Amino acid sequence: MLIRLGRWLRAAGYDTGLANNGESDRELFQRARRENRRLLTRDHKLQEYRDADGTVILLCGNELDEQVHELSQRLSIDWLYRPLSRCLVCNTPLNISAPDDIPIPDDIDRTTLHHCPGCGRIYWQGSHSRRMRRRLEAWAREQKAFR
Ligand SMILES: [Zn+2]
Repeated sequence: MLIRLGRWLRAAGYDTGLANNGESDRELFQRARRENRRLLTRDHKLQEYRDADGTVILLCGNELDEQVHELSQRLSIDWLYRPLSRCLVCNTPLNISAPDDIPIPDDIDRTTLHHCPGCGRIYWQGSHSRRMRRRLEAWAREQKAFR
């Protein structure tokens, strides 16, 4: 349910796990405890788990911006913690540089490449990453206003 928010937390550089397909509430809760993570959810049932306090953070917003706003009020998220340093798909920290033999479009500057050692995905600086960075910067400014 909060997959988009999870991807944006990865974009900010946070180690962010996502629920696996078919993972039950109990399994999710136990994994969060085991891995010492906060569990962000929109599912009220999860808050009923014993010791939920401090682990489960219940968000209500439907839209990404609402969720970001809520989360920024609850936790001291630094949206510019380590921007675009982690794979959005598999959460692995990116390597700066990529293997030389990886084919990329001609107009991409090879020195801006980041490579995910987890899933092999390649990232580069371009209009998409600039837009993402601007969005993170906007959330960071908003976050400052709460302090
Ligand atoms: Zn990856």
